[in-house]
Amino acid sequence: MFLRIKPASPIPFSLYVLLFVQTVTSSLPWGDINVIVVTDVHSWVAGQRHLFPQAADYGDVLSFYEQLPHDEQDLFFVMNGDFMDGTGVSTIPPTHLLPILEQLPWDVVNMGNHELYHSETVEYMKTSGFIHHWKGNYLTSNVVWSSTVKPIGSRYTILNATHHRARILTFGFLYNFQGNCNTTQVIRVQDAVKEEWFRSVLRHEEYDAILVLAHMDYQDELVSVIHQAIRNIVGLSMPIQFINGHSHRRGSAQLDNTSAAMEAGHFLDTVGFVSFPVKQTVLSSNATLSLFQHAFIDAAVPDLARALEQTSLHITDSGEVLSSLIRQTRDLLQLEQPVGCAPQTFRLGLPLDDPSSLWALYMDHVVTPKLLRRNESLVYIQGTGLLRYDLYAGPITIDDIIAVTPFNDSIYSVVDNVDGELLRALLQAMENSSSAVGTALPQFVSTLLSYDVIATNRYELLSSDYDAPRICQLISLIQPEIESSCRPSLYLLTPTDALMINLWIAYIQSQWSCEWHQDEEQPSAVFFLAMLFLFTAFACLIYHFFAPGAFPSNGNTSRETLDDEKTPLIRNRYAGSSCERDLPINDTTEHKKAASLMLPQHVLVSVFEKDQL
Ligand SMILES: [Zn+2]
Repeated sequence: MFLRIKPASPIPFSLYVLLFVQTVTSSLPWGDINVIVVTDVHSWVAGQRHLFPQAADYGDVLSFYEQLPHDEQDLFFVMNGDFMDGTGVSTIPPTHLLPILEQLPWDVVNMGNHELYHSETVEYMKTSGFIHHWKGNYLTSNVVWSSTVKPIGSRYTILNATHHRARILTFGFLYNFQGNCNTTQVIRVQDAVKEEWFRSVLRHEEYDAILVLAHMDYQDELVSVIHQAIRNIVGLSMPIQFINGHSHRRGSAQLDNTSAAMEAGHFLDTVGFVSFPVKQTVLSSNATLSLFQHAFIDAAVPDLARALEQTSLHITDSGEVLSSLIRQTRDLLQLEQPVGCAPQTFRLGLPLDDPSSLWALYMDHVVTPKLLRRNESLVYIQGTGLLRYDLYAGPITIDDIIAVTPFNDSIYSVVDNVDGELLRALLQAMENSSSAVGTALPQFVSTLLSYDVIATNRYELLSSDYDAPRICQLISLIQPEIESSCRPSLYLLTPTDALMINLWIAYIQSQWSCEWHQDEEQPSAVFFLAMLFLFTAFACLIYHFFAPGAFPSNGNTSRETLDDEKTPLIRNRYAGSSCERDLPINDTTEHKKAASLMLPQHVLVSVFEKDQL
């Protein structure tokens, strides 16, 4: 089996890190306790078609899981949080997503921060029976309802490993998230591990290993906080396995001789596997490190088949049912509706001066003409957590746009009548701030550079509903007296007009026709034209050969390949063209309908949440 491992980022000395790099192996590295892991799937239940030619959907993952050797191994399946926000299947509340998730036989589900942004989401998880569905194994070790201070799910659970007759004490922690809706409360991890219930469970329950689902990066210092709090009570020989998430990468670390951490990617790019020992095995071994193993399997159908040592993946009945449900749901939501065709791929993490920068496309080509309408007194400032996925060359669907901007924030006017001096100071502070995690971009970007601000002018600042209060806070740090006049309000006439998805749709429909791609998809017309061209060329060639000088020497220019990633973006390349042939006029309302499914409730999150991972 071929398992591809992505390198992890540089790692601090505080953790002795072990990267279990395995390039070629014939089977999964089975141990006493084995766990299949998905994390931060963010509603990519249909898989990543742009990443893999044969992307696995959740139905394929279920087929894979069902064919693992359950009769011979102690095997569990876990989801480590953040199933919300990412594709059009994720709506608020998640009426379409939860029935899909309930088809997965997860033994434990942890809560991610994205389940907590909207009270409608978390309350629907309760009222729809989703939390109850997991029979006590939806874990929220440090998240409670504000009204009762009782945990939303369970604080812990015990998994029974029948082959080893072992009990696995399992927790589900969330990092110290502060952007949660006010019906919920996230207890700081440092405080949660001091609570009586936590210490009592560790002291009085019977167990043979500890599994900690932790929705935080595998190098987060809070991992050490939990690890140390457990170690202080259980001693050195109790195995502790962390399963991490939130930072959307693959990685692993060894925390001490009998504990390890692993994180298994995001957006259904990875099916993770981890194995660890029970205490009895640790006590009889003098090489405990080798008892903690893991593997990352690309979430592509051929890779899942190889992991099962099959030539092609056998689809089980329940796997087929789940894939069918996913297709039906996507059809119902009209997520495959075409919008246009991108001339090249635009990447999320590239700096603004790169011709393939998604952020440069958004700021210079979508926002400036469509939102600001080149009004120089308007300045748009945006936190770079807004966009979430690359925009790929070729046909674009509604779901591709939702993937780029899944939060579908509305445009807000943050404050108007700001003097140039203050704006320049604000922009300078933003330009000098450190890069956002994992990107070449600053925390905020703006349509105006500080250098170009005219000190004597007055400006109106626009942003998203999520970032508007953050910008108010930043301005107040520079000029405290402005705080009272910084009252963000919805910009444009209606909430639908102000939605970011509609800005993208307007841009793509006006600039990126699918003419070229349609030609490619209609071979009969192309064939006819090509034959006509060849016949003409041949006739001209004959004429040219026999009558030199009678034919002009400047030949035809070859047509550019529009989906070549190296083709630079040419401004207004398709100016004047439209998508009317792809989209009947009344389809526009369908777009708005699909887009409005993502409509947030304009709840202003008045905190600094540096990353929205
Ligand atoms: Zn996430």
